[in-house]
Amino acid sequence: MSSVNELYQQLILDHNKNPRNCRHMDHPTKIAEGYNPLCGDHFTVFLEMDGDTIKDVSFQGAGCAISKASASMMTTAVKGVKKAEAEDLFQKFHTLVTRGMKSAVEDDIEELGCLGALAGVSEFPARIKCASLAWHALHGALASEDSKVVTTEE
Ligand code: ZN
Repeated sequence: MSSVNELYQQLILDHNKNPRNCRHMDHPTKIAEGYNPLCGDHFTVFLEMDGDTIKDVSFQGAGCAISKASASMMTTAVKGVKKAEAEDLFQKFHTLVTRGMKSAVEDDIEELGCLGALAGVSEFPARIKCASLAWHALHGALASEDSKVVTTEE
């Protein structure tokens, strides 16, 4: 198990250091801001939709290593998928980070791929909001027609 954890840790470090799709989008179809006041993480998620498909996705902002790595992984996970698939992935990811790897179904873990690297945050409740912030923003962007501000406070 420790070698898996090490691999996961390296994945998080890598995404934090070299975030994917970290850029401004000039003409997004949808946009949402995510703010986590507990930690100060603040990201904007941009979507370019083609009908029901997320043609392109990017993010910008600043936050802790977990939130940034998670935002980066989120963009690689949902780029090119349908809206419904992205929402489904969000639910599975949310279950994973709130309840941990043990609670997840094997099929879900496989589907989540590198997102599984963030399962460890389930042991640190304060970090769960960091890990799910970009996903909440994605969810908010998908759900609304206009730009929207999403916070992790429920
Ligand atoms: Zn954070």
